[in-house]
Amino acid sequence: MIKKTLQEIGQMIKIENDFSSFYDTAVKGVSIDSRKIGQGNLFVPFKGENSDGHRFVEDALRKGAAAALWQKDVPNPPLHLPILLVEDTLTALQELARSYRGELKVKTVGITGSNGKTTTKDMTANLLSLKYKVQKTEGNYNNHIGLPLTILALEEDTEIAVLEMGMSGRGEIDFLTKLARPEAVIITNIGESHLQDLGSREGIAEAKLEIVNGLQDNGLVIYYGDEPLLNEKLESYMGSAALRTFGRTEKNDVYPIRIEQNDSGSTFKINGTNEEFYLPVLGTHNVLNALAAMIAASHFDVPYEKMNKGFSSLKLTNMRMELLEGKNGEKIINDAYNASPTSMNAAIELIANLPGYKKKILVLGDMLELGPQEEDFHFTIGKSVDVEKVHYVFTFGKLGKFIAKGAEQSLSGERVFAFTEKQSLIEELKKHVDNETIVLVKASRGMKLEEVVSALQ
Ligand code: ATP
Ligand code: MG
Repeated sequence: MIKKTLQEIGQMIKIENDFSSFYDTAVKGVSIDSRKIGQGNLFVPFKGENSDGHRFVEDALRKGAAAALWQKDVPNPPLHLPILLVEDTLTALQELARSYRGELKVKTVGITGSNGKTTTKDMTANLLSLKYKVQKTEGNYNNHIGLPLTILALEEDTEIAVLEMGMSGRGEIDFLTKLARPEAVIITNIGESHLQDLGSREGIAEAKLEIVNGLQDNGLVIYYGDEPLLNEKLESYMGSAALRTFGRTEKNDVYPIRIEQNDSGSTFKINGTNEEFYLPVLGTHNVLNALAAMIAASHFDVPYEKMNKGFSSLKLTNMRMELLEGKNGEKIINDAYNASPTSMNAAIELIANLPGYKKKILVLGDMLELGPQEEDFHFTIGKSVDVEKVHYVFTFGKLGKFIAKGAEQSLSGERVFAFTEKQSLIEELKKHVDNETIVLVKASRGMKLEEVVSALQ
């Protein structure tokens, strides 16, 4: 963040107390965590249901914070300290980010979608870094708190910021995109995550499409063109932005030609150039994420010939299609970070088609928050497992059991194991792995299936 005086901060948001004796205090950076406070930060406490960040204000100031916000309905503000009283600290944080965004010349790229946001964000940032000074959302800081913090962390000389936008309901992406004012946006895909809150896939598509509402004039919308819902809804788009699609099929503006996979990544070409690309991450779904990133990077004039260099330094955050090795020499794909039907299918497809392994084992746990059809979703995943390509299916959890039921429709009973107890699962699994085995481990975050991965290592 550009250094500011407290007086300048006061001009960016509405302050309700007289803090003139602290006008000259220098502020750099904003933090909401008193344990990680940096020198000169503005500390923003939140009043939650169970805990109240205001308890840590004095501590944050002692540790080096220059000043702190204080929500005015919280009693006893220590007004002898550099405290700014506001109506609501969350709104103040967001308004501060909005005002700061307005000051910056930075261009932003907004990324939403049901799966692949973080991956596409990392890829896009890597490609753009070949030509520009780029900042991006740290980790998964993609919501109404994370995005303002990301914006407030932008430096004055940053040319492009790549921003992930997540949501769990209507109106959230609208808010985030209007804060970010992107020049280009990406919609990676429409899946089933948050079906519980949004009712239908159509509802999910509409919520993602809100990202267009914050676009700059003559911006660019990049979206997954194999998704009929996106095509249908964007058909009536009347704004000034250009539309570009990516996908597996040739009807898209950008599509892959012949993807070859090995167990460290994919080689592919795309229409329109002879360049061959190597993406050092697993799964053809990641090629799709790469296509979206490539369209975004081309929009900012990064040439295709340079892009392999951008891909080569790609490091995806832990637990996303991470290739590891177990004690018995087995390979493990750790994708325990999260799961939805779309991403589960993508991961199963990947392992089913990976050459070089004699035995392929799926360890699949519950996919959470899928709403009333959750049992069906699990059953369908199980049923679609290719009996020729996958040797064992292990499931974990109450919903996982439905995957097992589905799998039993095609695989014989002795190749399907359902557990509700992790330790028993681990013991059985260990009996089946050897150095010609590959194991996929995947479930929703809450299922903590990384414990299975650790047990194998
Ligand atoms: P979150 O909502 O948790 O922020 P995200 O949208 O940022 O998720 P990633 O973290 O990039 O997504 O990937 C999450 C999971 O989705 C991984 O398991 C990955 O394998 C899968 N995935 C990534 N991209 C795609 C895609 N294009 N299609 C289907 N599945 C995908
Ligand atoms: Mg993410």
